[in-house]
Amino acid sequence: MIERAQLAALHEREVNRFVEAHQRSAELAASAGRHLLAGVPMPWMRRWPGPFPMFVAEAVGGRCTDVDGHEYVDLCLGDTGAMGGHAPPAVVAAVAAQARRGLTAMLPTADAVWVADELSRRFGLGNWQFALSATDANRFALRIARHATGRRKVAVFNWCYHGTVDETMVTLDENGVVVARAGSLGTPLDPSAATAVVEFNDVDGLQRELAGGDIAAVLAEPALTNIGIVLPDAGFHDALRELTREAGTLLVIDETHTICAGPGGYTAAYGLTPDVLVIGKPIGGGVPAAAYGLGDELAGQVAAAFADPSIDVSGIGGTLAGNAMSMAAMRAALSTTLREEDFAVAVPLAERFATGVRQTIDGHGLAWSVQRLGCRAEYWYCPPPRSGAAAAAAGDDELDAFFHLYALNRGVLLTPFHNMALLSPHHTPADVDRHSEAFAAAVGELVG
Ligand code: PMP
Repeated sequence: MIERAQLAALHEREVNRFVEAHQRSAELAASAGRHLLAGVPMPWMRRWPGPFPMFVAEAVGGRCTDVDGHEYVDLCLGDTGAMGGHAPPAVVAAVAAQARRGLTAMLPTADAVWVADELSRRFGLGNWQFALSATDANRFALRIARHATGRRKVAVFNWCYHGTVDETMVTLDENGVVVARAGSLGTPLDPSAATAVVEFNDVDGLQRELAGGDIAAVLAEPALTNIGIVLPDAGFHDALRELTREAGTLLVIDETHTICAGPGGYTAAYGLTPDVLVIGKPIGGGVPAAAYGLGDELAGQVAAAFADPSIDVSGIGGTLAGNAMSMAAMRAALSTTLREEDFAVAVPLAERFATGVRQTIDGHGLAWSVQRLGCRAEYWYCPPPRSGAAAAAAGDDELDAFFHLYALNRGVLLTPFHNMALLSPHHTPADVDRHSEAFAAAVGELVG
């Protein structure tokens, strides 16, 4: 259906348009080559479409402005870090106020009590600890699971992403063998010794892997969101919970992205009962902060270890984890963003996004699809995949780059890694329609 030469020609036209409009970013990108490894502070910043990244001048609410003065409807929202909107006023004020009172002191602040109470209210687990990234929170959760079960191995779903946690940087190869994920640098462990990998929605596969009785924890997103959105089949979560309980395996649910389903994430929205819940990114309103909560039974099992003086060298935590600034930011973010009333605005906007994209797909008779979870929506060049492997096979980097650049050149930013859009209460129906129109025009030019 897609004529590749035509796609390449259209893409080149869009690249030229981007370069012409982003001269200041081009200058900064050239200077950045001097002393920034790969020319960017983080290598994934090169994944934005276009020959060099746009440099950002300001990001407020649902918009972001680049150093060339262009304003964008930002549907990337820091890949969820700013899901409640950029620069939330209460977070800005709380961080400024806390900065004057001290940013970190190796002592708890009163905010910690409020935040733990609020996380407990939202997610239903009663015992919280903090970290500065979801990666670290996952890492610490897995350590706790190993300690509590006395087992070494963990299980994840194929094509998951839980941050740079060594045990999770794995996939299944074409023979079903657990291997280091393509791109993983300096893999420290024998991937198949540390981790079992199961396809999402594969209950039989899960049962097989858990049968050995050697898995400390299954670490799972409730819906895959990092290889496009792959939703769970009806009954999948019941089976996951039942099988993990039967096997004495702990269930760690990573809500870092699926908080898009509502104020208490997918867990609260669909009544999940994990042993550990991990949440990072947006709970600090963009300030580095993450948390993990333990159920009462597990908390009881680790109580002695947490009371032991050697806990400071236990392999969990960090000097700045739970610092005063991140606590103040979390309190402000959880008080003023990601609430019921915020989702009541953002979710209908995501529905509007999905409808807009679907109209174009249907109008051209394409076998493409749109998936949505709460305020997160994503389009596919195929019917909705049910597993990570199917999702990975359906990717098309050339098409992604073209659609993303086309949208960017018309004032809309999508997350660079896949076709994901996040809607916040700061967006408007007109913002969504701007994307729908750009998508319709791009598809029209491509498939006529
Ligand atoms: N968990 C999930 C589900 C994620 O999507 C990510 C990042 N995309 C992480 C954990 C890691 O977050 P961070 O990079 O902030 O540590």
